[in-house]
Amino acid sequence: MHHFDPSKEIQDHLVFGEYGGVNPSITDSSTYTFLSPEKMKELFVHEIEGCFLYSRHWNPTNKNLADVLARLEDSEAAIVTSSGMSAISSTILQICNTGDEVISSRTIYGGTYALFKNFLPKLGINVKFVDILNLEAVRTSITDKTKIIYCESVSNPLLEVADIPNLSKIANTNNLKLMVDNTFSPISITPLHLGAHIVIHSLTKFINGTSDCVAGCVCSTQEFIADLMDINSGAAMLLGPVLDSYRAASILKNLHTLHIRIKKHSENALFLAKELKKLGCKVFYPGLPNHNGYHLMNELMNEGFGYGGMLAVDAGDIETADRFMVKMQDEKVGYLAVSLGYFKTLFSSPGQSTSSEIPEEEQRTMGLSEGLVRISIGLDNDMAETFKRIKKCLNEVGLCK
Ligand code: PLP
Repeated sequence: MHHFDPSKEIQDHLVFGEYGGVNPSITDSSTYTFLSPEKMKELFVHEIEGCFLYSRHWNPTNKNLADVLARLEDSEAAIVTSSGMSAISSTILQICNTGDEVISSRTIYGGTYALFKNFLPKLGINVKFVDILNLEAVRTSITDKTKIIYCESVSNPLLEVADIPNLSKIANTNNLKLMVDNTFSPISITPLHLGAHIVIHSLTKFINGTSDCVAGCVCSTQEFIADLMDINSGAAMLLGPVLDSYRAASILKNLHTLHIRIKKHSENALFLAKELKKLGCKVFYPGLPNHNGYHLMNELMNEGFGYGGMLAVDAGDIETADRFMVKMQDEKVGYLAVSLGYFKTLFSSPGQSTSSEIPEEEQRTMGLSEGLVRISIGLDNDMAETFKRIKKCLNEVGLCK
């Protein structure tokens, strides 16, 4: 357990708006004026603190959000992007050239899996998928072409916990970058403290928390972020995954309540996981002592934010999973929808949706049952009451008595 409190870091970042506004002003400009042509030329050669050129490069509102995200992850710097996927693709393309290799956990978000499996090979970048819990498999997959070890701190959808400190040792010994997607565990895990080199997020999820936009970020060293934004060679600058400044401003406001939301998501998820387990359901939740990541999670997490708001329950087969989800929607437990981190409960069956990009055979080897239901627990005030409704649904589909 670590004693780092990211919410304190975020809270201490005061930016005044124009006329002393308590929210920073939104910069609604794609381009910026210069008082002299010389200054403009200089900016094409190197960054100048507080000087903006063009909003695909930097926008002051996006910079505010990026600075606060750097505090969240305790990184030297950060950039914001138009989606979690663009944060991932820009980072990989910044580091890897044709012929390079990535070693990736096989239990990752289906979109990332598809990018790695179907798209990167078109550019001559090959990805080897491994069981990330098997450190020996990671070690033996490394070749002189490997550049990155990639994992999710808490994985989608099985909630495996990656051993970031040991993966970091392997990465450092072999001069590789350890890149961690921390979307499932913002504030509760700080991967850079554990030895990761680059952290990415889909801000679309818990960090924004209102399911009203798609966005992402990359947190790392000043040097790497400057590389990503380099006018002549930066993947984020040249591929152009820009976040709109209005969205950046609204995400920033939501970020300030992240600590309260994560505590409540975690409290509700732990309550539900325990109750489901008592009923004899097959539950995956890193806060349950029988989960294979429980001890590691306790070691890695920051104190005070819980085990996160995601859990999965195995309904056995697709038909039962489907009926269970429809019943939960009818009972107003939440929405049958992909995505996560919303204030209301969201559920979907990963095998048929967010993980459907992963071939069925591979789903089975990684333990992803066809009847798995992934639940992103909402901020319900009375979880005991919600549980009664969930129990009724389980009962009606024959999953409990
Ligand atoms: N990483 C994880 C763990 C995700 O669950 C997702 C989306 O579901 C992404 C990355 C991609 O993020 P976005 O949808 O913001 O591009």
